[in-house]
Amino acid sequence: MVGLYVHIPFCSAICNYCNFNRGLFDADLKQRYLRALEREIRGKADGTPADTVFFGGGTPSLLEPSEVRGVIDACRDSFKLTAGAEITLEANPETVTRDRLRGFRDAGVNRVSFGVQSFRDEELRRLSRLHSARRAQEAFEMAREAGFDNVSLDLMMWLPQQTIAQWLSSIEALIALGPDHASLYLLEIYPNAPLKDTMARSRWSLAPDDDAAEMYLGALSRLDDAGYVQYEISNVAKPGRESRHNLKYWTDGEWVGFGCGAHSTRRGVREKNIASTEDYVQAVNAGMAVETERRVLSVQEQLEEAVFMGLRLAEGVRLDGVRSRYGVDLWERYGEDLTPFVDQRLVIYDGGALRLTRSGMLLANEVMSVFIGPPVR
Ligand code: SF4
Repeated sequence: MVGLYVHIPFCSAICNYCNFNRGLFDADLKQRYLRALEREIRGKADGTPADTVFFGGGTPSLLEPSEVRGVIDACRDSFKLTAGAEITLEANPETVTRDRLRGFRDAGVNRVSFGVQSFRDEELRRLSRLHSARRAQEAFEMAREAGFDNVSLDLMMWLPQQTIAQWLSSIEALIALGPDHASLYLLEIYPNAPLKDTMARSRWSLAPDDDAAEMYLGALSRLDDAGYVQYEISNVAKPGRESRHNLKYWTDGEWVGFGCGAHSTRRGVREKNIASTEDYVQAVNAGMAVETERRVLSVQEQLEEAVFMGLRLAEGVRLDGVRSRYGVDLWERYGEDLTPFVDQRLVIYDGGALRLTRSGMLLANEVMSVFIGPPVR
């Protein structure tokens, strides 16, 4: 069963920390892009069963409900969308109204993921976000009123000038709303991000690393108490509300991506579409291939990826699954290099699975370096 990813590269304004593939909203380009997108989807029709569709961006909620319906219909006509398929739309709080949300629901969307980032206005302003904390709360309530019983909220931690207590106040505000799912990301500031200059000019700083660790652990422990289950390094959910689409990335699954910059992974082959929106539209219109990269992954690369992604999950990587798919006994091959991490209680090996503890999740990159290339010995 594959997952379908649909990229919508338009935003009303560009946030000062953003490193995604996106550009400013342009009504004419949007029309041309949607026509190209549907053509790409229909051109790749092969009737494979699919059980998830994920509209990511960019800001997919800038589309009209009828446009979202058109894309979902193209997916439905081209792939065997299962009954009850999870159809997620990423949304920015300032873009939604009750009517628009009802429209998205009628179009077939059954899960909304809001980019909230913070419930403190001061922090939202520092990130140049267009919404306020109140607007985010209203957007969530409107989604419930529109009938969405599967809503996710994203928050970002380790923001400029943010203290542990301030971060935890956003977590409390999230818990008070009671979403079904939440993602907690660490703000990453890229070298050329405008936020970097603003921070220097405004003399904003980041809390020390130890505080970042405390933010992460403190948030998870409050979410535990509130009945959320951490199922991945950055994700928690009420039981049964895990993101089925994102689980495909973490469980060595298969997905097909449509739109500019989208990736696909199927049968050990990784493909990436043209990143530029305009170039993508032109390529589709000219009947040319939109993939700029196509790479057959070696067995070692597939194994590394399966382990990297699997270790992100709270349940970890099952050794029998890896053995039957790749013919490799992970503990036999990497056990000696992993033992120091097991001794420090960063990794748990119980004979059947390897998994990171919460402290291990904080140092995930160090642990995962063990699996790159042949074992060090
Ligand atoms: S809304 Fe999201 S994709 Fe758009 S600029 Fe802001 S962070 Fe980037």
